[in-house]
Amino acid sequence: MGKDCGKHLIFLGPPGCGKGTQAGMLSDRSGFMHFSTGDILRESIKDQTPLGIKVKAILDHGDLVSDDVMKEIVLEKFKALSGDDKFILDGYPRTLIQGKDLQEITDITGIAIDLAVYFNIPDQAIIDRISARRICSKCGKVYNLKTLPSKREGFCDDCDIPLIQRDDDKPERVKYRLEVYRELTEPLISFYKDKKLLTEIKGNDKIEFIYENLVKLVVLCP
Ligand code: AMP
Repeated sequence: MGKDCGKHLIFLGPPGCGKGTQAGMLSDRSGFMHFSTGDILRESIKDQTPLGIKVKAILDHGDLVSDDVMKEIVLEKFKALSGDDKFILDGYPRTLIQGKDLQEITDITGIAIDLAVYFNIPDQAIIDRISARRICSKCGKVYNLKTLPSKREGFCDDCDIPLIQRDDDKPERVKYRLEVYRELTEPLISFYKDKKLLTEIKGNDKIEFIYENLVKLVVLCP
């Protein structure tokens, strides 16, 4: 196995860096399980579970759900895994405390992280991307009006219902989410660099080009 090769991956990067899209592609085409903590939370909001009711206002505002709640969610996911499963953690960890919690979880379950992929992208590209992002309110599939349009404009390819913009993708919330990212999540880049687990990908290339680079890193192994 090359130094950057791995089957237990973390995807790190600011909102709108494309990590969710790439994780979805790796999941569809290369057999990785895709755990998006954002999707898990949005799903519980949609289903009005006790967790969903508790976190709705936090997500709408663009704040982070507490580290303890997130730790419980991720620990449950890990307990259901076998060491042979290939997976991507998309959106977790998001704070240094979560980084340490994840270390604890991997120690408990014996399923270690092989690689943290950091999607590096300029702020303006993030803003452009997020303002064009639309999702299906039923299946959660993500589209982009410019780079990843649906076949029928404004409708989900799979569910054929109207696409919506996430409340936290509205311009006033995006700026705030970027501030939260800089303050709380960005320190994880050094955290994983120090652990010699970090690798970087340029996040503002074309989607298929980024995917090819990712496959070279994590599937073909350098
Ligand atoms: P995302 O889809 O990854 O952009 O996540 C959407 C929202 O879910 C975030 O803005 C947070 O409110 C919440 N969220 C997702 N993952 C986490 C996490 N690891 N820690 C705290 N909050 C999270």
